[in-house]
Amino acid sequence: MSRVYNFSAGPAMIPEEVLRQAQEEMLDWHGLGMSIMEVGHRGPEFQAVLEQVEADMREVLSIPSNYQVLFVAGGASHQFSMVPLNLLSEHNKHADYLETGVWSRKAVIEAKRYGTINVAGQVITENGIHRLPLQPELNLNPKAAYLHYTPNETVDGIEFHWVPQTGKVPLVADMTSSILSHPIDVNQYQLIYAGAQKNIGQAGITVVIVREDLVKEALSFTPILYSYKVHVEHKSVYNTPPTYAIYLAGLVLNWVQRQGGLKVIGERNQRKSKKLYSCIDQLSDFYMNKVAPDCRALMNVVFSLKREDLTEEFLNQAAQAGLANLRGHRAAGGCRASIYNAMPEAGVDCLVEFMKDFAKKNG
Ligand code: PMP
Repeated sequence: MSRVYNFSAGPAMIPEEVLRQAQEEMLDWHGLGMSIMEVGHRGPEFQAVLEQVEADMREVLSIPSNYQVLFVAGGASHQFSMVPLNLLSEHNKHADYLETGVWSRKAVIEAKRYGTINVAGQVITENGIHRLPLQPELNLNPKAAYLHYTPNETVDGIEFHWVPQTGKVPLVADMTSSILSHPIDVNQYQLIYAGAQKNIGQAGITVVIVREDLVKEALSFTPILYSYKVHVEHKSVYNTPPTYAIYLAGLVLNWVQRQGGLKVIGERNQRKSKKLYSCIDQLSDFYMNKVAPDCRALMNVVFSLKREDLTEEFLNQAAQAGLANLRGHRAAGGCRASIYNAMPEAGVDCLVEFMKDFAKKNG
């Protein structure tokens, strides 16, 4: 068996060490004679797993004690509804959104079902190059119930490398494709959410980190499982959570700790993305990336071939060379290399060599 370098945007690569540990523990978890996925969610064994995963998440991200950490079933898209349902109120149905790509656009569409949404900033295109709005270019409503933004747009490969300042307005971040990619200061946000299937583990759960004062009654018609308050009060086990996804998140967090934490991971990710962007820029007769250098994504490197007709051949040959899933999102076309934490630097080196070689042979 040989594993390929998997550049999928998500579900994405999981560290081999983690998969091996999961495999080892599959039939007999900690001498119990059963898999952790066969264990009841309210029993002491799974409760201990849940508590430890939360503690590890708090440690890795330095989450202050006045924030709740929730493991909510479903994807990040569920949060597109949960955020407005919980943070809007009968008194204030106004929210600001930065609409900077495919995912934040979906969040806006969903939020409009519940409130009055002000798009407070969008991508700016100058001479064919895309960049994010700067702080003075944001059209913020000081009375908004919150500002929602997507620090990293997974499809568009565009990322905020700074945190919008909102004064007293709570800041909500969809960190699905950027969480755990580098250290952050949780205090700068009031609510963070992230689907697990990129840097946290397997699909099925979304981690929600919410400052306690934001947890209140949701809008009256909110389904019970969409209420943060219910999840907080029941410590993420109001109903049966995706227990195996929570367990796997724990294994990944332990792997992050063994790597030396987010500082070390962040530095490695910087090196990985720099290698790829340098390759694209150096071979600018052949490859293109249209995102302004200071807004380029750390985790999702989008690019296209100047000769579009060569794209299929590029993807086929890459796959044959063990470089899988480099096709861009169906909404964007072209190519995309998602280089989450589990992608080793050697995988990026391989891709860079392949890209140079392909350009030389076809240029
Ligand atoms: N937000 C972002 C930034 C994403 O990258 C994705 C998934 N790629 C989503 C939201 C939606 O996540 P899910 O499919 O888990 O609902």
